Amino acid sequence: MPKYDEMKKIRDELLVFKESPLFEYRTENKYFPVVGEGSHDSTIMFVGEAPGKNEAQTGKPFCGAAGKFLIYLVESIGLSRDEVYITNVVKDRPPENRDPSPDEIALYGPFLDRQIEIIQPRVIATLGRYSMAYIMKKFGLDFELEPISKIHGKVFETKASYGSLSIVTLYHPAAALYNGSMRDVLKKDFEVLKKFI
Ligand code: URA
Repeated sequence: MPKYDEMKKIRDELLVFKESPLFEYRTENKYFPVVGEGSHDSTIMFVGEAPGKNEAQTGKPFCGAAGKFLIYLVESIGLSRDEVYITNVVKDRPPENRDPSPDEIALYGPFLDRQIEIIQPRVIATLGRYSMAYIMKKFGLDFELEPISKIHGKVFETKASYGSLSIVTLYHPAAALYNGSMRDVLKKDFEVLKKFI
């Protein structure tokens, strides 16, 4: 099946994903599931946590304040939003922007797994600790897991079903919104992605 059609199938399934505890909240608020956005041929895939309000209202990942900073970072390494692929572990907005629960991560994780198989990125950049934990565990790197304050900006080598894969663990861009020094840390950590371009 062409990549576009496979991705559309994921979208269609998410639209009627009544098994999710977030489904009712989505429909009550006329929100959208946020599947992901960008190039299906991207070398780099960014994986955030879960959509916020702006994202759920538009169906687009990272389109609020944190997204603005993420795109600034993407552009700082010479790429544009369209050239990369951006998604989240959880595809529906948790109420009041609370952290996604372990159950929600387990429920939505398989959609992300399929997106990774479709895009076959050479690099997955995780944004924040939930995404980091999910991706590191999925690729057998549990033993490397440490607090994000210790392993931000690091590159971990692993194998995906389609070949070698590097995982880069980054802070979530929202962490920088009210913290200027975190902006500099994220900017510096982003530099490690340059070698994959
Ligand atoms: N935060 C996330 O983790 N994902 C988004 O799409 C927006 C904000």
